[in-house]
Formats: sequence, C-alpha cells, structure tokens
Amino acid sequence: MLKSINLSFQYSGAPSISFPDFTAEQGDQWLILGPSGSGKTTLLHLLGGLLSPSTGNITLDDFHYSAFSPAKLDKFRGENIGIVFQKAHAVQSLSVMENLLLAQQLGGKILDKKKIMNLLERLQIAHKANQKPNRLSAGEQQRVAIARAVINQPRLILADEPTSALDDKNSTEVQNLLKESADAVNAILLVVTHDNRLKATFPKQLLLK
Ligand code: ADP
Ligand code: MG
Repeated sequence: MLKSINLSFQYSGAPSISFPDFTAEQGDQWLILGPSGSGKTTLLHLLGGLLSPSTGNITLDDFHYSAFSPAKLDKFRGENIGIVFQKAHAVQSLSVMENLLLAQQLGGKILDKKKIMNLLERLQIAHKANQKPNRLSAGEQQRVAIARAVINQPRLILADEPTSALDDKNSTEVQNLLKESADAVNAILLVVTHDNRLKATFPKQLLLK
C-alpha cells in the first residue's frame, strides 16, 4: 500500500505546492491529472524518492521511505520503484539489452538476459535488443523505458506523461503495456498526464489543481 499524507514541496524562491492525501492499494492503477504547472512531475518525483518533501510523509508497505537517507533511498528505489520519465532516460552509449542489464545491477538483482528477452518479447521490441536506444522510434523508446521500469518487478510503477509524444495507436499500446506490466507483478501503477486520451481507461483518478 502506498500512502502520502500532508505532502508539500517548495522549490527555492517559489511558493509551496501542496498535494491531496492519497492512498493506493497493491494492484491499483491511478491516473493523476492536472494542467501544466499543477505539480504532476513534482508529485511523481516525491513519490519516486527523487525529491524530499518539505512537509508530510510517504510510505510504501509501511516503509517510511521519504525519511530515508539518500543511500538507503537509492537502494529502496532500485528494489521497489520503477519510473518511466517524461524524457527518454536510457544510456545512449549502451544497447537496449545493456541498459536493462544495468537496471538489474542497480536494483541489486542477478543479471538475467533470458528474463530481459522475455520482457522485450512481451513489449514487442525483442528484435531491437542489440540496438542503441536513439535508433528506435518514439514508441519503441517508450517501450524500452517501460522495460527498464518493470524489469525488477517493483511494488510501485510511476510514469510521467508516458504517451504525450505518441500518436493514437502508440498511445493506446503503451498505455496497455503499462497496465499489463503492472498487473503482471501486482504493482501499484500511477500515471501522471495531461493527455485526455487516457481518461477513459483509468477508473481511479486524482486531479491536481
Ligand atoms: P507539471 O508536471 O504539472 O507541469 P511541475 O511539477 O513540473 O508541474 O511544476 C509545478 C510548479 O513548480 C510549476 O509552477 C513549475 O514552474 C515549478 N517548478 C518545477 N520545477 C522547478 C524547479 N526546478 N525550480 C523552481 N520551480 C520549479
Ligand atoms: Mg510535468
């Protein structure tokens, strides 16, 4: 279970942003909506342990990780949280396979090429395993980002505007792949977006003002 209580964040010199309290059960899939500048990316970075809240706390399965030291938090994130960033985050000098091996290493997992190939097959990019990410289309790059986020079977999957740069067909596919990947490991899925095409398929929605 993911729980965030009394959460706020303040960038230096800017007004404080407060977030609604929020609870998600394992297996829940939430859409977090709000106009540009409403704090969607900030919330996702707080939940992902990439920013420390100014007030409030966040727990996942009773681990109060928003209070962890940076080193402990890095380890916790690698093992429990998968993040699909707004911009492609793959290491461009490494192949798709090598990027996923790196993700396994950073998550403290055994390096398992067969597991990676199975995942790439499910995401329909197995034939790109030895390519560098920048040789892939936008839709394929987003599948690599999903693969990186889910390879270690996280408890929590966070995705920041995963479909905004995609056409309708790829948007639908990436959305379905995220949901299937989360279902496969019973993870909590939180998708942050201003893309109204996603509204119809997520019954649970949180609106940021
Ligand atoms: P969204 O993802 O919904 O567009 P953000 O979380 O990116 O919103 O931004 C929320 C608010 O915080 C905006 O007013 C934005 O200008 C501000 N902001 C975002 N990043 C920074 C930063 N690094 N420094 C100062 N202000 C920031
Ligand atoms: Mg954003």
